[in-house]
Amino acid sequence: MKLTVTEKLLTEMFARFAPIGALPGGGVTRLAYTEQEDAMHECFRDAARALGFRVWTDCVGNSYAAAFPEGTQGYTLLGSHLDSVIEGGEYDGVAGVLAGLAVLCELRARKNPLPVAVAAFRCEESSNFRVCTVGSGLVTGTLEDDVLRAASDRQGVPLLAHLRAHGYEKDAALLRGCARYLELHIEQGRVLQERGCEIGVVSAIAAPHRYVLRLNGMAEHSGATPMPLRRDSLCAAAEVILAVERAGQEEAANDSVATVGAVENRPNVMNAVPGTTTLQIDLRGIREDSLRRLEQAVTRRVEEICARRGIDYALKAADIKHPVQLDEALQRALCAAAETAGLSHMVMPSGAGHDAMSFAELCPTGMVFIPCRDGVSHNIREHTELSQIENGVLVLLHLLSGEA
Ligand SMILES: [Zn+2]
Repeated sequence: MKLTVTEKLLTEMFARFAPIGALPGGGVTRLAYTEQEDAMHECFRDAARALGFRVWTDCVGNSYAAAFPEGTQGYTLLGSHLDSVIEGGEYDGVAGVLAGLAVLCELRARKNPLPVAVAAFRCEESSNFRVCTVGSGLVTGTLEDDVLRAASDRQGVPLLAHLRAHGYEKDAALLRGCARYLELHIEQGRVLQERGCEIGVVSAIAAPHRYVLRLNGMAEHSGATPMPLRRDSLCAAAEVILAVERAGQEEAANDSVATVGAVENRPNVMNAVPGTTTLQIDLRGIREDSLRRLEQAVTRRVEEICARRGIDYALKAADIKHPVQLDEALQRALCAAAETAGLSHMVMPSGAGHDAMSFAELCPTGMVFIPCRDGVSHNIREHTELSQIENGVLVLLHLLSGEA
């Protein structure tokens, strides 16, 4: 199978998107529910309409395009997002939406009337509201109400106010008729590139378990307090950081990771023994049992370190999410489709979250990864070749047309 219209479509669409939220030094900022995200959606809808597809939006501002008539049931939805992080790249999310549009065009060029729709979701990134996958979460009913109510943007405007401006009504939000969900996305890691692999078939999406650890020692004069009398919270934190790393290494074979990404130290001056140190701990994995062992190891070691050093502590869960397993039959079918397309492929977990998480409990859900240069993403240096997106389109087409 050869693609006939994809290269031209991708070239034109990236050129049309390019000025939106463009930064002087390269890269883009297109935060959720801002002018820039609105412009991305308008541009997508205009292009899809000009291509002759039926185009519509829902009450939270997600955009859709399809060739099939309204009311069609049992269609395949190809989705991703059009927002970006602050100083992000042009491919995260956009590649998936454009791949979906390319699939529609290729199917039409082949006079293949398969029921397929493309979705561009709002607010996948947490950069503006500190909540991710909002658009897909709302139309699948998977975004919790309290999370929705608590979220506000960087200016303090509630997320609900933005949604109401788009006509949001809770009961009207749900997406109907979707029989399965597929998403193409850049990998955002280096695994495919290092293995020289063209296609990743995603097995599961990792979930974060996040904790805040507050260590309370005693802030004292650094000259007048002898070593045996100290209760240094930063030294305890240093041990905890390494213990968290060790716990991650022990679960590495199960694709789990453990990170202390943020340290806050007080009084944080040279001539005082640190008295209070706060750590933010991020544990992630695709297996609940592995996440549980990680948590137990971290809890046990924090307790041991603090007892030995005379440090009081409070370990609080900040955000606990569950890993999402993707459909196994779809994984096999995507591997077979890659095989038929003559593309090298591997099954791999996703460390990052995606809109696909919102669909996994609702209908069979699959994801295709394509490489991005040096694994760089959420960065103005993010880059993927159009030919790599074309590879992904080919896999989706093979899967859909059942030629695999
Ligand atoms: Zn993304």
